[in-house]
Amino acid sequence: MDSLLKVSDLRVSFPSRTGWVEVVSNLSFQIQPSEIVGLVGESGSGKSMTGLSLMRLIAPPGRAQGSILWKGSEEILTMPPRRLRSLRGAEIAMIFQDPFTSLNPLMTVGAQIAENVQLHQNLKGKAAWNQAVEMLERVHLPSPETLAKRYPHQLSGGQRQRVMIAMAFVCQPALLIADEPTTALDVTLQVQILALLKELRDQFKTAILLISHDFGVIGAVCQRVMVMYAGRLVETGSARDTLSAPLHPYTQALLESLPTPGAIPQPIPGQPPEPSRRPDGCAFHPRCRFAFDRCSQNTPALLQLGGEQQAACFLREREQKHL
Ligand code: SF4
Repeated sequence: MDSLLKVSDLRVSFPSRTGWVEVVSNLSFQIQPSEIVGLVGESGSGKSMTGLSLMRLIAPPGRAQGSILWKGSEEILTMPPRRLRSLRGAEIAMIFQDPFTSLNPLMTVGAQIAENVQLHQNLKGKAAWNQAVEMLERVHLPSPETLAKRYPHQLSGGQRQRVMIAMAFVCQPALLIADEPTTALDVTLQVQILALLKELRDQFKTAILLISHDFGVIGAVCQRVMVMYAGRLVETGSARDTLSAPLHPYTQALLESLPTPGAIPQPIPGQPPEPSRRPDGCAFHPRCRFAFDRCSQNTPALLQLGGEQQAACFLREREQKHL
C-alpha cells in the first residue's frame, strides 16, 4: 500500500549574505493513513519549516528541495498551482499555536468555516452554513448556532482553538498538520484539545502530524515519534519505545529535561546552534555528554536499531559493531 505522504531527502534553505543556509537537511519519512505521528525538538530544530514545506508554504526566497509524494503519485513540490490550491484545506489542513493568525477578525467564525466548505465542496449558502454549525458541534462547542455568529475576539483562547480545529476538519482532510496546537493553552485545555484531535482522527480517519517541543504532548496521542535536532532527524520509532527507551543522547536529554514526579528536571546544557553556525560532525556534539573524537568530524546517519527504532549516533553504531 502506498503511504499517504512520502518525504524523501527534503532540504529547506534560505539565502544569506554568505550563501544558502539549510534549516532542514536530508529529511526522509512517511506517514500512513490515519496515523498520528509526532515531530519533536527544541525551537529552531526545523520542525515548523518541515510542516510548512509539506503544504509548499515556504515563502520565497526560501526554497524546499527533494521530494514530497502525496498518495504515491503526486509530487507536491512541483504540483501545478491550481491543484495545490485544491489540495490545501481540502486534503491537507494545518492548524497553528495561535488561532488569531489564521482567523479573520472581521468575519464571524461560522462564516469562515462555511467559506472553507464553499471553496472545497459543492455546497453553498445555508447548506454550507449548516455544515459549519454541525462541525462546531462536533468539536464540542456549546450552543454552536449562537457561537457561529460570533467574531474571533468574542471567544476564549480554548474556543478559538476548537474553531480552528473545526475549520481544519470540516472538509475531512486526509492529513492534518498541527503545529504546537496546545502550547498557548493551560494544562487542562491541552488535555481536552489532544483528546479532541484523537476523537476526530477516529471519526474522519485523518492522519495527523503533531509538531511540538513537548514530549508530554507527543506521548499523549502519537503512535510514532520523530525527533529533530538542528534540521536533521536524529531518532525515530514507536512512541512507546522512544519514550521508554530512547536511543539518541538528544532524545534522552529532552526526556530528562521534563518535570517528572520524584525527579529533578535536568536542563540540556547550552543552546541549539543557529542554522548558519551548525558545528561540523554531529550537530549535537557540543552539548552531548557522550561525545568522542569522531562526533566532531563526521555526521552520523540514521541506523536501524531493532524494531522500528532508528537513531543517528556513533555511540549506537559502535555498540552495534561490538554485538
Ligand atoms: Fe553524542 Fe556523538 Fe552520538 Fe552525536 S554522535 S549524539 S555527539 S555520542
